[in-house]
This record gives sequence, C-alpha cells and structure tokens, in this order.
Amino acid sequence: MRHTRTAAAAGWAMILFLSVQGMAAEGFNVLLVTVDTLRYDRISALSSRFVKTPNLDALAGKSLVFANAYAHSTLTRPSHANIMTGTTPLSHGVSDNPGFRLEKRYPTMAESFKGAGFATGAFIGAFILDSQFGLDRGFDFYDDMHGQSAIAERRADQVVASAINWISGRKERWFAWVHLFDPHDPYDPPEPFKSQYAKDPYSGEVAFVDAQLGVLMDALEKRGLMEKTVIVLTSDHGEALGDKGEETHGFFAYNPVIHIPLFVYYPGVGNKTVAANVGHFDIFPTVCALAGVLIPESVQGESLLPIAGGRARREPAIYFESLSPSFFLEAAPLQGFVEGKIKFIDLPLKEVYDVTADPGEERNLASTMNLAPLSATLDRLRKDLKGKGTKQDLEGKDIRPLMESLGYLSGKAKSKKNFTQADDLKTLLPLIAQMHIAVNEFKSGKPDPALAKIRNIIRIRPSYTTAYSAAAIINRNLGKFDEAMAVLRAGLDKNPDNLLLLTDLAVTLIQAKKPAEAAELLEVVVDRDENNPEYQNYLGRAYMESGAIIPAEERFKKALALDPDMVEAFNNLGYLNLILYVQRKEAKFYEAAVANFDKALAHNPRLESALKGKAAAAEAKAKAGR
Ligand SMILES: [Zn+2]
Repeated sequence: MRHTRTAAAAGWAMILFLSVQGMAAEGFNVLLVTVDTLRYDRISALSSRFVKTPNLDALAGKSLVFANAYAHSTLTRPSHANIMTGTTPLSHGVSDNPGFRLEKRYPTMAESFKGAGFATGAFIGAFILDSQFGLDRGFDFYDDMHGQSAIAERRADQVVASAINWISGRKERWFAWVHLFDPHDPYDPPEPFKSQYAKDPYSGEVAFVDAQLGVLMDALEKRGLMEKTVIVLTSDHGEALGDKGEETHGFFAYNPVIHIPLFVYYPGVGNKTVAANVGHFDIFPTVCALAGVLIPESVQGESLLPIAGGRARREPAIYFESLSPSFFLEAAPLQGFVEGKIKFIDLPLKEVYDVTADPGEERNLASTMNLAPLSATLDRLRKDLKGKGTKQDLEGKDIRPLMESLGYLSGKAKSKKNFTQADDLKTLLPLIAQMHIAVNEFKSGKPDPALAKIRNIIRIRPSYTTAYSAAAIINRNLGKFDEAMAVLRAGLDKNPDNLLLLTDLAVTLIQAKKPAEAAELLEVVVDRDENNPEYQNYLGRAYMESGAIIPAEERFKKALALDPDMVEAFNNLGYLNLILYVQRKEAKFYEAAVANFDKALAHNPRLESALKGKAAAAEAKAKAGR
C-alpha cells in the first residue's frame, strides 16, 4: 500500500512539474504566510460579518481560495509541524506544544527549498515556534524570539519589517515564511484598531494583521515580485471564541478552530474558489510543484493544483486530532476526519455532523447512523498516515524508583486505557471553564477564591496536571513556597511521570533557596529530556546557587548549544563569571561577565537583571581597583 502511494505521489509530482515548469523556469520565489489563530470568518472576502480586511481580500481576489481547508491540529506548534513537513502528527508525533519538538528525521519544506538552491528565511512572531523546537531546520536565517520567555510575542509590524528587509537583500530565489501571532490571545490590538474594534478586540488584532499584510504586499509589488512569487496564506488554527463553551483553542475540534482559510496565489492564476476538502499537509507538495522543487517521499499531502482543477483526492478523508487535553487532563484522545460533507469526531461520546447542512455542528447524527464505516476509515487513516512519531518528554525510562528514592513519591502510576463518558472532552469542559474563572480571579487580585476553585478542580480530576501548576504559581506569587511545593508534590503523587510538574517543583525549590535539592530533581528531568535548553538552564541555575560553579557553567553552555540565542543562559553566565571575579579578582572573569551580559542585552536591551549585573560588575571592578 505504502509503495503504491509513494509511486503515485512521485507520478503526480512529475506531471505537475511538467505542467508548471514553464512558469517555474522563470524562477518563482515562495512566500508562506501563517497568521496565528485566524478564524475563517474573520476575512471579509469570506464573511462580511465581523471585520474589514481589504488586503487579505485583495490577495483572495487573485488566488485559489480553498473554502474547505482544515488544520490537522488545534495548536500552534503541531500545526506548523504539519505544514512544514506536509504530514500529520500521526507521522511526526508533535501532538502538543509543551513537551514536543520536531525531530530531525522529518524532512521540512525549508530543507527541500534550501536543497534546491533557494535562500531560506523565517520571521517568527512567538516563542512557541522558537528555533529550539525544531521548525528552524532548513532555514539560513531564522528570526525568532531569541529565547526570551514563554509568553513572548512580537507584533506583526516588527515581523513584517524584518521579512521585507531580508527579502530586499536577496539576489537568488528565496523561500520565506512569515508567522504573525497577533490574533492569539490576549487580544490587545494597537491603535487605531483598539478603538475601532473596542467591543471585539480579537477582530481588531485581525484588522491590524491585515494592515501589516498590506505593507508586505506593497513591498513585493514595488519590487516587481508579485510576478515572480508564489504566495500561500493560511492560519495554523482558528479560535473558538465561546463556541460550545470553548474560549480559545486546543481543546475541541469544531470548525471555528479547525476550518481555516487557505489562499494559493501564483502569477497568472486568478481568483477561483475551490470546494474540495483539503488540509495543511497539502501546502508542501503544492509549493514544490509550483516552484519546480522535488516533493520528498515523506510528504503525505497532495498538490492542490490538480485538486483545484477538479481532480478527486487520492485520499478523500482529511485527518484531525486534539490530543493536548489527553496529556494535561488525561482526557480521552480526540481524533477524527472530514470526508465529503461528513465530519466524524471519535470520542467516547461519538459525534457526526453534516457540515454542509449544519455548519454550526449543532445536530449530532451519531445516534441516527451506522458508525462502523466511519470508525473503519479512521482506523485506516491511523494506519496509513502513521510514522515513527516523536519522543515525548514524558516518555522514556521509568523514573519512579529514582523519584521514590529522592522522597518525592508514594506513588503508583495508574495508566488509563479504557476511556469512558467521564473522560470525554464534552464532560470535562466545565472544569476548564472553572479553571478560566480561577485564573481570572487570581489576575484580578483575588487569590483565595481562585485557590479554592482549583482545589475543587483537583478533587474532581486529580489528573488535571496544569491545575497543580496554577495553584503553585499562585502560592509562589504570594511568597508561600511551602504551599507551592506541597501542591506540586501532591500532583506528582497522582501523576508521577509528569516532567512539567517535576520542573515546576524544582523551580519552586530554587526560589525557596533550596538549590541543592532543586539540582537533584533537575538532574532527573535532564536525564529524561536532555535536548531541552530550559531544563539545562534551570539546572545550571540550581548548581550556581548552590555554589557548584563548574557544573553550572557546563549546563549553561549546554543550554546555549541547544539554543544559541538563549538570553537567560547568557545572563546566567554573566552572573557566574561575576561570582568568579568577586572571588578571584582575575580580569578575565570580569571580561567574560560583561561579554555575556552584553550578549543577553543584544537580544533584549531592556533585560533588567542583565543591566543590574553589568552595573554590579562595574562596581566590583571599581572596588578591586581601589
Ligand atoms: Zn497558533
């Protein structure tokens, strides 16, 4: 089966290559734009209800517009991994944001284009796609968030300016990826969109992105590049905005989140709406076909060009999943597919919708039909699309004996195989809603009711790991380190394999001035996942604060080897050398301290702790000179 499919794919590639080589020979560039969290109905060419997007409309007006395009995932990193590899998480295994990075064995679009002699550049709007997570592979230039912080985001104007600057400097053909994060929550558009969309700030963010896309398109136009460039625009996933009780994304897989916009522009194509179901994994083979680049065998999608021409897909069913809640909540895994007008969601409480007659997915047809053929199709997709997956942080060898010896667990892990109605996302949704309320209470200065709510959530669902983390954050914020540690220990007791809780506990120990204990735990964490620069950096911190300078330095350097622009690691190396300078008064340590603080400041000029560190180094030097 696999061989036939591969041979067929190669055949298609050849036909497409021949059919477009006249254009390709002139040397198309490729611009891929992913607008994060952009709902299909927030582009005015697709729906006029919410927001005016003249620039997106103009692009749609000269592009193939795919009216039924689907994301295979509901989160940023998994979706971009799908786009970049032309596969689904069944193949590459990146099924969640935390704990996953794209492993080297999965060929990326950027690698294909680089291999074909293109200059490759990426311009990234959020830390979630930082180079350390593997999506940078194949890019000559990856302009990311410089490892600043897990919540860091860069506005579209900065990302677009960087992209234009890079594109302007290219003499050879190029492949550029522009990622605009603004519509992701929290919704806080700049003026004038803030005022224009005061009641709907999400749409305001979209309007701002549209304006910046106008800047990008103008720049291409001015340089005559619209005649030489393939442009693909999509979003990684939409946003629920309250649909079925979900506020953002990453939980359910209803259409406000997985039905996404997809435009394909190339010189001369003109506007055409295509009704066929397509998916993110189709982008890779499409741009290869248009630019005359060979499609790797690993790609599972199909070129959109014959599909736009009316040819049926080889594989009519488009797979999707939402697995994050199965990791943080031990929920039943959500998998499903869209085929024709039928959408099947496989959960303990099964769901079937006719998305043509019932676009709001309000009438579940599951009880009215024979589900066996749908289950069989999903099983076939699971088999046909399956790859080697990826090593999740939480997998690997059993750490429980080691943890027990460290005194952290009384624990017996329970592995849950038979999911019931109680594990269905629809059943668990009220807990997520309660959690939202609790977080908002904390943010508005009411930690006590927030903590009470979270305690109740944990009582109902002891496997809700992020609830323990949230309680720990609130307690740490109140300076209650013992309480924070107690709640994390309770969480680990129920969820002994959870590396994120373990790391949280170690970070709390550092803050509670128990760095030696933290180092012991972080050694376990790093042993489980040695490729995570944050874990290496935390371990370095723990060693440094317990006075173990040499192992600390090793860990900071390891963090930088994994993420060469990790600001925190430079900053920590600055402090480490400052300590050595104060101890030994040797000039080389002073110089190394300043050099590392400067590297941190080069990435983030306002980093307070680096500024303070540099001032402290100068003071120490003045003192030594006296
Ligand atoms: Zn996203």
